[in-house]
Amino acid sequence: MILVSACLLGLDCRYDGGNTAHKGLLDFLKDKEFVMVCPEQLGGLQTPRNPCEILGEDGEAVLEGGARVIDNKCIDVTTQFVKGAEETLKIAKIYNASMAILKERSPSCGSTKIYDGKFHGKLKVGKGVTATLLEQNGVEVFSEENYRDKQL
Ligand code: SF4
Repeated sequence: MILVSACLLGLDCRYDGGNTAHKGLLDFLKDKEFVMVCPEQLGGLQTPRNPCEILGEDGEAVLEGGARVIDNKCIDVTTQFVKGAEETLKIAKIYNASMAILKERSPSCGSTKIYDGKFHGKLKVGKGVTATLLEQNGVEVFSEENYRDKQL
């Protein structure tokens, strides 16, 4: 079973109320079992919502209490991001998912790059909160940019 970011499948769950449907990924998943998740919605955030970034190092630091997630109005949404990661992990366990394909660059779902916390569009190396928690629990995390690296 593969966990997949719902926005990559065309669900309008992104912060701006849109999606990032990925045709190649939809084709790839046609003959596979998958379950879609949106950690930010699972954490209780509304859609649309303000864009959020990790203030501090990365998702691991957020889970350890050493960094926060804020929106572009400086509202702290760390609790919702951690809750969303925990709920996503529950789903991974229920479905026995060993792999996830999550949206790159998101403060929840990013697996190699995230925005740097200053809301000026610059990226840094790092993982989002949900990608980190899944990896810490044995789920292999890919993005829409590298899922074909995985041999199935
Ligand atoms: Fe939801 Fe993740 Fe997509 Fe953001 S990147 S909209 S948290 S599924």
